[in-house]
Amino acid sequence: MDIWFHEQHGPGTFLGVKVKEVLYQRHTGLQDLAIVDTEDFGRALVLDGVLQTTERDEAFYHEMLAHVPLCSHPHPRRVLVIGGGDGGLVREVLRHPTVEEVTMVEIDRGVVEACRDYLPTLSGALDDERVKLVFQDGIEYVRQSPGGFDVILVDSTDPGGPSLGLFSRAFYQDCHRCLTADGFLVAQTEEPFFRPHLMQNAYRTIAGVFPRTQLYLGMVPVYSAWYWTFTAGSKGGLDAAVVRSEVPGDTVCYTPAVHAGAFALPPFITGQLTDPVR
Ligand code: SAM
Repeated sequence: MDIWFHEQHGPGTFLGVKVKEVLYQRHTGLQDLAIVDTEDFGRALVLDGVLQTTERDEAFYHEMLAHVPLCSHPHPRRVLVIGGGDGGLVREVLRHPTVEEVTMVEIDRGVVEACRDYLPTLSGALDDERVKLVFQDGIEYVRQSPGGFDVILVDSTDPGGPSLGLFSRAFYQDCHRCLTADGFLVAQTEEPFFRPHLMQNAYRTIAGVFPRTQLYLGMVPVYSAWYWTFTAGSKGGLDAAVVRSEVPGDTVCYTPAVHAGAFALPPFITGQLTDPVR
């Protein structure tokens, strides 16, 4: 009997993924978590019925979230990751030789433990000596933090449940305070097609806090609408589309040309980005 995981993307649109085996499943106390082995995407992490990451296309997402700000910042040394429990983002951040310290603040220890056991190609870098793992609500962490971060990356679940406050003005203001003068905040800001209001709200809220705010695009096959968006808030006004350094080694998706091109937005998206929320 075929088992299919399906996720609703639009009122009349589903993504269906054939499941070979459910490897692990439990409620963490905060979220329903499952690790499934799929026909086309390898192993995948599912939280509260939503596909978070898969072995086959995770690099499309993690490379664009990590390398755009880290290759734009003149000398990134201290990086803060909010969320990112699968570890894939931290793996990409650690590829930058200037990075001395990565603090990952994940609210759910159960996600990290499951990914350590079942998704080692993503989580393996979490044991690097430059990594500081903190199990705490990211909203609280930045509220209390003395700051000093060159880059803050928000790799959260969709707005709702524990991650709702990670899309709030207060959270972005705390992130702004926690950044160094030339610092960048970059958050995953959802997709522009089925639920554009989520992207608009996130972009406009960041634009209401940072002097320079730029949206850029990635493509993640299992995420809805193919386009996925990231929003960069620049504290010192640096242009996030300018490449100032390179990523050592091979990449799957990121190149300096892809970096620059990711900021070339189609009209149906630029039209949705006006009027910052003040
Ligand atoms: N790339 C995925 C996406 O775009 O949907 C996100 C992947 S990552 C697994 C998301 C992580 O954010 C989860 O592990 C979740 O536990 C964590 N998270 C959600 N709310 C959080 C919060 N308030 N503070 C810290 N981590 C949070």
